[in-house]
Amino acid sequence: MPRRGILTYHDISTVGTPISVAPDTFRAHMAYLHSNGIRGVSVDEFLTAVASGDNAASRNLMAISFDDGFASVHDEALPILREYGFTATVYVLAHKLGGRSDWRRLGTIPDLPLMGPAPLRACLKAGWEIGSHGLDHHPLTEGRPVEVARQMRTSRAELESLFACPVYSFCYPYGAFTRDHCVAARDAGYRSATTIRVGYIENPLVRPFAFPRLGMNIVRTDPRLQQALLKATVKGHAMRFVKLRRILTRRPHHSGEGAVPCV
Ligand SMILES: [Zn+2]
Repeated sequence: MPRRGILTYHDISTVGTPISVAPDTFRAHMAYLHSNGIRGVSVDEFLTAVASGDNAASRNLMAISFDDGFASVHDEALPILREYGFTATVYVLAHKLGGRSDWRRLGTIPDLPLMGPAPLRACLKAGWEIGSHGLDHHPLTEGRPVEVARQMRTSRAELESLFACPVYSFCYPYGAFTRDHCVAARDAGYRSATTIRVGYIENPLVRPFAFPRLGMNIVRTDPRLQQALLKATVKGHAMRFVKLRRILTRRPHHSGEGAVPCV
């Protein structure tokens, strides 16, 4: 069975930042998945299907995730995913809904508008999952345990109350986490937590609070290289994916090897 994983996107626009993917490029990614018989689903649906052990149910799934909850996700990605019958998970910040990404960012990324409750409800209505990215993009590695617990527990409680839906999935701000944070995420009631480590998910029961993902932030639009990256993604060729991604992304000089900037 080919290896499957969680694709990561941030902003879907032509703004041209290192975390932006142009709508046409995003559409090409989704079209490639669709033409290869793969359906994009939320993180929780993907993990539940893989954990069931039913290979027939999970072999044609790939999870799609959006970090931060940019307004462009509703405006650009939602109609494209709807067209293909796909869903996704959007990791939002409970205290930034309807605001801007005005937290400490990496590189030259501008602050961009974020979805408020109404567009997020439209995503929910389309079958998407709302996950938590914390309250305000506070780096958990700089917080005391009580602050880490507050970021995880309060964001989950507030999002569940506002949207009247369960919040099962967490995403570490900046992708930074420790073993204690994995325990805190579990204790806060989440089923999984995602990072920006690059990789596929071999077994969703192993380290479910430190899942790697497949960063799809592509700055260069060379069609041949993009096609090769998509092929590696679908075939589950991890080494080839990492190599191609290095070529296709413009990594900020102060981020870790292979890391996606997470604004
Ligand atoms: Zn983020």
